[in-house]
Amino acid sequence: MAKDLYDALGVPRTASAKDIKAAYRRLARKFHPDVNPNDKAAESRFKEVNAAHEVLSDPDKRKKYDKWGDRWEMADQLEAAQAGRGAGAAFRGNGGEAFGDFGSIFDSFFRRERGGPRAQAGNRRGQDVETSVEVSLEEAFHGTSRTVNLQTQEVCPTCGGSGEIAGAICHTCEGMGAVARPRRLEVRIPAGVKTGSRVRVAGEGRPGSGKGAAGDLYLVVTVLPHGRFERKGDDLHTEAEVPFLDAILGGEVTVNTIDGRVALRIPELTQNGRQIRLGGKGMPVLGAQGKRGDLFVKVRVSLPDALTPEEREHLEALRKLRQGAASHQEGR
Ligand SMILES: [Zn+2]
Repeated sequence: MAKDLYDALGVPRTASAKDIKAAYRRLARKFHPDVNPNDKAAESRFKEVNAAHEVLSDPDKRKKYDKWGDRWEMADQLEAAQAGRGAGAAFRGNGGEAFGDFGSIFDSFFRRERGGPRAQAGNRRGQDVETSVEVSLEEAFHGTSRTVNLQTQEVCPTCGGSGEIAGAICHTCEGMGAVARPRRLEVRIPAGVKTGSRVRVAGEGRPGSGKGAAGDLYLVVTVLPHGRFERKGDDLHTEAEVPFLDAILGGEVTVNTIDGRVALRIPELTQNGRQIRLGGKGMPVLGAQGKRGDLFVKVRVSLPDALTPEEREHLEALRKLRQGAASHQEGR
C-alpha cells in the first residue's frame, strides 16, 4: 500500500540532498491544497510528498529507510531495544497523519524508568528525544502549539517490576515489568520558527540514571510550503498583478500580505518583473520581539483581455504619437 518514498518524489535512489529538496519544493507547490482546492487526489499526493521528504531529507532516517524500507521505524526500535539502548526514539504512526490533523501529533515515546543496571550506569543525564512537527506558514507567523502524546513507561504496579507473581507471568504487564502511561504535553511553538528550528522542552526526554537529570524533548519544525508566499530567511516573496496602465502611469494595487491586505503604490513606468519592497511585512524574527523581515512584491504587468473600439482608437493614437516621437528623435 505504502508508495516508495523515492517514487513519491520522482527521484532516483541515488538522488543528492539537493535533488531531493528541489523535487520536494516543486511537488509541494504543485499539489498544495491552496492551489488545488477540493482536489482529493492532489491532497493525497501532497501528503505523500511531505511524508517522503520528511524521511529522505534527514540523512539518518534516509539511511534507515534504505536499509529496511517501509518498516524502518519498527526495525530501528527493535534494534535499539536489542542493543540495550532502551527504546528511546520516537514512534510515528504513519507519515501522513501529521498533516491530516494539525491539532495534535501522535508520536509516543517509550521511556524506561527501570532501565538497565543502575549501579553501573552511575548518575548519567538522560538522552534527548526528538520528534518532528509540521506547521503552516501562518502558524509559523503567529506562533502555535502542538499536543505531544508522550508514553511513559512505569514500573508495573501489580508485580512491582518483576514481571511475575508467584512464578506466573503477571497479567497486568504481560511479564514486561513495566506498563505504559500516556501523558499529553502542550508545547508552544514560537512565532518565527523556520524549517529545522528545534523547540526545546526541558526535562521531557529520557530519564537519567541514578541522580542524573532527564534529557530534553526537541520538536524539530518543518514549515510547509505556502501557495502565495515564498520564504527566504525572514523575508517573504510574493507577486502582484498590476494593470498595464497603472504600470505605465503609476497607481495603486491591493496586495495580500501574510497579515492582511495593504495598498501598494506603483511608481510611474514600473517594468514587468520589478520587485517592490514592503519593509517589516515579512516573517517575525525568532526571539527578537517586534522585529520582522520584509515582503518583496514582484510586479506582473497584466494586459486587458479585450479592448473596446474606443480604447483601441486611443491606443492607436498613442502608438502614432510614440512613432512620431521616435522619428522626431531620429531626425535630430
Ligand atoms: Zn506486572
